Amino acid sequence: MAIATVNPATGETLKTFDALNAGEIEDRLVRADQAFQEHRTTTFARRAGLLHTAADLLEADLDGIARTMTTEMGKPLAQARAEAAKCVKAMRWYADHAEELLADEQPDPADVSDSGAIRAVVRYRPIGTVLAVMPWNFPLWQVVRFAAPALMAGNTGLLKHASNVPQTALYLEELFRRAGYPEGCFQTLLVGAAAIEEILRDPRIAAATLTGSEPAGRSVAAIAGDEVKKTVLELGGSDPYLVLPSADLDKAARVAVTARVQNNGQSCIAAKRFIVHQDVHDAFCERFTARMAALTVGDPMDEHTDIGPLASEQGRSDLEELVDDAVHQGARALCGGRRPPEHRAGWFYEPTVLTGITPSMRIHREETFGPVATLYRVADLDEAIALANDTPFGLGSNAWTRDAGEQARLARDMQAGGVFFNGMTASHPGLPFGGAKRSGYGRELSGHGIREFCNITTLWYG
Ligand code: NDP
Repeated sequence: MAIATVNPATGETLKTFDALNAGEIEDRLVRADQAFQEHRTTTFARRAGLLHTAADLLEADLDGIARTMTTEMGKPLAQARAEAAKCVKAMRWYADHAEELLADEQPDPADVSDSGAIRAVVRYRPIGTVLAVMPWNFPLWQVVRFAAPALMAGNTGLLKHASNVPQTALYLEELFRRAGYPEGCFQTLLVGAAAIEEILRDPRIAAATLTGSEPAGRSVAAIAGDEVKKTVLELGGSDPYLVLPSADLDKAARVAVTARVQNNGQSCIAAKRFIVHQDVHDAFCERFTARMAALTVGDPMDEHTDIGPLASEQGRSDLEELVDDAVHQGARALCGGRRPPEHRAGWFYEPTVLTGITPSMRIHREETFGPVATLYRVADLDEAIALANDTPFGLGSNAWTRDAGEQARLARDMQAGGVFFNGMTASHPGLPFGGAKRSGYGRELSGHGIREFCNITTLWYG
């Protein structure tokens, strides 16, 4: 895949970039390693000062970097601005909380006295340079979600960003440099996916984190496993969205639209499968479909646009294949199900609601990365839970019910890294984020996220 900015709203190639050669990669590995030796010894106060400066700079750049993201991957401009603002918030959150999250733990002396210790301390020390392989869908957020805790923990970062967002990737390197981070603390590697194996095997790389597809995750995890290096994987999702009889139906239908089409439908935690109790199915279906059909598809730079183009031509044809396969097997499109006829250039797709889904359809088991919702009718809570869990994925999940007993059942039984009641799944710096099953392992954000890439060290004093 060429490293290039191609505007998905027009299909026009705006800028191409040469991949780094072996010597240039080596220079960056040397710098990352040298920077780590210094950065790991700095105080939390110093690290927090740097990260706050980066947050201030990003806040000042908000509109410009939002336009770059929209140009490179097609998300509506207002959503790009919101993404950049969320990054500012996460940077400040980690700058303010990292010291407390990584504070020494003091085991109770009585608990460890039979080890011969007078006292013992558990310390969260940095592990080194972390390689981050990141996707294009939230090109700023996915990186900041990794970089803010990594840098606060005293690690250094090397970013291999998706090949279609090179300008956002270079912006990030420049942002941290402008904030005053020592050279090498955070660097962007403009390389294709094929270069990852050699870099990951390099002894100067301590660990890797990847957000993206299952094949990419499997490959990185296999190589890292071979090298005995830790990985965190945040892969795809096919989040269920359960609507049960006690739900506020208007709100559930309104939020369902946002939960499905945010980021042009290309979010790992988007609600994708809408599982609705038979008592409220028709009323929900009518409201949800009407709202989906009323969305405006168009130029993502236009403030009135709800849904821009998909990020790549390949992404759109993958989505079309899933919809066509379902329709050929008997599914019915209540709205959409095609490219908008009025858009000739660009990789647009109409917001779509499909009903009549059966297990033999690919769309029943695969991730839909675009504005396509599948709708299911269920008889009761048991069937809803069974269907929700009938997926290889286990990232987030949503359940609309005001019944405390149902909430308790769902909290116990949903096979996912999160269960969001009466609201849509969203990430927050203070809450752990990650999945179960084939959605990956490990956690990002919160104290759990920052501790993933630490050497948890036992200090034993005799
Ligand atoms: P990929 O997983 O291919 O891309 C994500 C990142 O991984 C990119 O930086 C990519 O680099 C890199 N990569 C790809 N293959 C490898 C590999 N074998 N070894 C190391 N790095 C690799 O996602 P796509 O963009 O192709 O999207 C395909 C599907 O993946 C989507 O339709 C969606 O289902 C899922 N996806 C999920 C995301 C999430 O948020 N969980 C985000 C993006 C995609 P390069 O760009 O150079 O290929």
